[in-house]
Amino acid sequence: MDLKDHIRTVPDFPKPGILFYDISTLLAHPAAWRECVNQLKTIIAPMKPDLLIGIESRGFLPAAPLALELGVGFTMVRKKGKLPGECISHEYDLEYGSDIVQIQADAVKPGQKVVILDDLLATGGTLRAAIELSQKVGADVAGAACIIELLGLGGRDGLNAPFHSLISYE
Ligand code: 5GP
Repeated sequence: MDLKDHIRTVPDFPKPGILFYDISTLLAHPAAWRECVNQLKTIIAPMKPDLLIGIESRGFLPAAPLALELGVGFTMVRKKGKLPGECISHEYDLEYGSDIVQIQADAVKPGQKVVILDDLLATGGTLRAAIELSQKVGADVAGAACIIELLGLGGRDGLNAPFHSLISYE
């Protein structure tokens, strides 16, 4: 099965000139979604993670079922102010300005092997921030994966962890 057949492209979203790769159609098709989770499992199981980390918000979608499949825990990286209790923050640069991501302070035990998931890699800024945050709390980041990779932006080059994607677009 070709996962690309289940990705919808939406022109001019969220801004004019942007082509958005929409995974809603993949999620709505149980066989295609099962295939997607299976392909991620094939890549990630050999890394033997202790914990999966999903990036807000569409990264939660593959990370949670995959964690169940692998029999490991799942935790969230979210934008500042969304997680309760003590959190660790990491500020990162955007094209204009900066943003802050957080993880709960007790979510990762030092030395735990983690794999980080998101739906799509574009510039790589979001995933890079999640990797740096995870390392800050003592995680051993064994790898990172996305369903979709946009190749033109060279996002994977700035990542300080092995990176995998299931499908890519120029
Ligand atoms: P980056 O930080 O790599 O430039 O952007 C990736 C982040 O933006 C991911 O968290 C992803 O969810 C979101 N994103 C950017 N463009 C798209 C897109 O076309 N489709 C989807 N599904 N997410 C996108």
